[in-house]
Amino acid sequence: ETKDVKFNRVMLKISGEALMGDTQFGLHPPTVERIAKEVKAVHDMGVEICLVIGGGNIFRGLSGSAQGMERTTADYMGMLATVMNALAMQGALESLGVYTRVISAIPMDQVCEPYIRRRAVRHLEKKRVCIFAAGTGNPYFTTDTAAALRATEMQCEAIFMGKQVDGIYDSDPKTNPDAKRYEDISYDEVLRANLKVADASAIALCRDNKMPLIVFNLNDPGGFKGVMAGQGTYTTVH
Ligand code: UDP
Repeated sequence: ETKDVKFNRVMLKISGEALMGDTQFGLHPPTVERIAKEVKAVHDMGVEICLVIGGGNIFRGLSGSAQGMERTTADYMGMLATVMNALAMQGALESLGVYTRVISAIPMDQVCEPYIRRRAVRHLEKKRVCIFAAGTGNPYFTTDTAAALRATEMQCEAIFMGKQVDGIYDSDPKTNPDAKRYEDISYDEVLRANLKVADASAIALCRDNKMPLIVFNLNDPGGFKGVMAGQGTYTTVH
């Protein structure tokens, strides 16, 4: 059924940690497969999908630099970690019969495609899921900013942030039972209250380009497809 579809092209951003499942590090293949099925369910609706996956399950630049590594070196290591996650997700999607491309901000031709905007758009038009890897290609950025940047370049209608909670709260719902979930919130309020949705540069980029952010729970079975149809609980930043 296509009558419920409100979106034609979207960005899904997930953290690297979403791929760990209940483990403490790296990739948990059944979890990668579960998320791939969530993506396939939306792809089957005819929606064009961009994907950005973080690298925090493998390496974070900040923790590397805290251990004495040069920050830029550590950040490049973090970007390489996102390529590993992208390749794992590509494998999981393709084993479900979904065609994909991994597109890296840092060229590595034997492994994946370099980022060429027009080519990426063409892949989307051909219904290939585009997995954007290596973040923005620059140190001192995060994959949240990469998601905001690529979503804007690809003219996505919204960024869906797949989290472990069903939206944005005024305090941590895991520790505060009275935490209140926002239905809607402005970019400026997210920045002002320093809410942990995405980093400030990503929020600012979304604000400046009027790119809505939709925060939903990636652990809900069918959650991504549901929220695409306006079902379930989520928070919209706009
Ligand atoms: N990173 C970077 N530039 C980018 C994107 C990512 O330097 O444009 C590095 C940074 O060190 C970061 C790591 O890659 O810590 C992993 O990305 P991120 O922390 O965004 O992953 P997530 O928290 O979403 O898993």
